[in-house]
Amino acid sequence: LRLILFLAAVFILAGLLRRLLSGKLNSPRHNPEVRSSKMVRCAYCQLYVLQDDAIRTSDNLYYCSQDHKKLMINKDG
Ligand SMILES: [Zn+2]
Repeated sequence: LRLILFLAAVFILAGLLRRLLSGKLNSPRHNPEVRSSKMVRCAYCQLYVLQDDAIRTSDNLYYCSQDHKKLMINKDG
């Protein structure tokens, strides 16, 4: 009989714990500022520009303008 009572107590405790955990997990959390407006750095002048506005090269480098892209390529030779 004791064993059954012990098991019942454990079961109740487990249920309470699960309820507490699920309550924490279900807490409302929303992140409104997740958009594609990512900032990237110009490889030439280190200026931060929006990824949409930046010029990307095949080397996965970003530039703030075509001028800086040309300058960087010319610098490399
Ligand atoms: Zn630049």
